Amino acid sequence: MLDADFFRRWMTATAASVDREAERLTALDSPIGDADHGSNLQRGFRAVAATLEKEAPDTPGAVLTLAGRTLISTVGGASGPLYGTLLRRTGKALGDAGEVSEAEFAQALRTGVDAVSTLGGAAPGDKTMIDALVPAVDALPDGFGAARSAAEEGALATTPLQAHKGRASYLGERSIGHQDPGATSASLLIAALAEANGE
Ligand code: ADP
Ligand code: MG
Ligand code: MG
Repeated sequence: MLDADFFRRWMTATAASVDREAERLTALDSPIGDADHGSNLQRGFRAVAATLEKEAPDTPGAVLTLAGRTLISTVGGASGPLYGTLLRRTGKALGDAGEVSEAEFAQALRTGVDAVSTLGGAAPGDKTMIDALVPAVDALPDGFGAARSAAEEGALATTPLQAHKGRASYLGERSIGHQDPGATSASLLIAALAEANGE
């Protein structure tokens, strides 16, 4: 079973990973964006870690809804409302249970990913964070390690794609040949699940 501590570890592991990879995320956002993805997420997840430490919500759902609200209020770029919605809707789907099973979490995360698709209008293959998130939720029933591998492969597979959503889509065919920054950060988020689980 996964408790509030697990979800707090997930968020702090994500914040640490985004800190380590911020320059790379911004570099990926340079040829097909506006070179701010790393700094956007660094600001957002640092605020998430600080808020969770201060407020210490005691259920999985409350941890994720607070994290999502914090991202929405601190990140100005497209990725803030999208990741914020992902976490808020996943948290809402978990309700107020003190502990949730991995299967319940997998189902809730799918609800969150669906909400990101609805908000941003992106489908798989549009070269967005969805290209890492959908394979991850598909693999999650096989465990966090499987989800991590699927998200990493999904992020790498965005390179040959043409972007159809977000800033990169303005480049048309010139977006081809670059890995999507948001799919890359989504793979960090999913990898942090395995880390929070001690894998
Ligand atoms: P901005 O483009 O506003 O500067 P960021 O650089 O922080 O925002 O985030 C860019 C990332 O957000 C993209 O690489 C992509 O993965 C993701 N993204 C942008 N628009 C969408 C969308 N409509 N649906 C899903 N993901 C999106
Ligand atoms: Mg950007
Ligand atoms: Mg921007």
